[in-house]
Amino acid sequence: MSEGKSGQPGGLRLLLEEPFYQPVGNELGVFMAAWSKRLPVMLKGPTGCGKTRFLEHMAWRLKRPLVTVACHEDLTSSDLVGRYLIEGDETVWQDGPLTKAVREGAICYLDEVVEARTDTTVVIHPLTDHRRHLPIEKLGIELTAHPDFMLVISYNPGYQTVLKDLKPSTKQRFVGLNFGYPPAELETRIIVRETGLDEARAQALVAAAGKARNLKDQGLQEVTSTRALVYAGNLMGSGLNALESCEVAIVNPQTDDPELAEALMEIFRAFF
Ligand code: ADP
Repeated sequence: MSEGKSGQPGGLRLLLEEPFYQPVGNELGVFMAAWSKRLPVMLKGPTGCGKTRFLEHMAWRLKRPLVTVACHEDLTSSDLVGRYLIEGDETVWQDGPLTKAVREGAICYLDEVVEARTDTTVVIHPLTDHRRHLPIEKLGIELTAHPDFMLVISYNPGYQTVLKDLKPSTKQRFVGLNFGYPPAELETRIIVRETGLDEARAQALVAAAGKARNLKDQGLQEVTSTRALVYAGNLMGSGLNALESCEVAIVNPQTDDPELAEALMEIFRAFF
């Protein structure tokens, strides 16, 4: 993957080299239209299907810095907005990643936003309407977003439970782009491009994944992702036996259930 020039961790990242992204539908066109009106965007889809890569590609295209925040259950609005820190005998204010993006006109990506504490939606909401304001309670100010600021969130519908879901009123503040695993021909192209694997083995990996994904209804929480196929392809490319590569990159991380694991291995054995 192409590396960008980066500031401090969690800071603004300007991607200087094109991150490879294989379009699947009209996601580039939709994103550009949303960008031209600075509408917030929600990337919806299962894990490892290209959401992050897509956004990296778009940030590169638009020549905007990208700030990515991996949301988790302890993430609060202060983590996003900022806080006072004690330095020696002084207290100094430090902007959080969202505030930095709002000030400097970056694209702010809140990955798996539903995981964050609900107080984060309070700071996100005013940024998603026409005012494009960020309330910073501790400083007693409302910051107006830089004209190039854009908010993007990702959301995995498969993970949501009754207890943890985005409120419909929050979802409706975003343009929703649906992502899924790419069709076989495109997924093969991605594996070849990402891993340097030969076309025949990449095709076999994708065909096997197609069958493995059908096991979803039998109790697998997550199906085989494009990311897992890229891992398997990389291991094969490094000389590891093909079947063992599938086992460690795809099957083991996906299930702890020995029967399901065996059912998956059965599929990969038919191809390798
Ligand atoms: P997500 O953010 O949806 O969890 P990522 O964007 O991190 O997933 O994708 C995982 C990996 O799969 C990427 O690092 C890349 O190697 C590969 N990938 C998936 N979809 C694409 C695509 N359309 N174009 C290029 N690479 C892709």
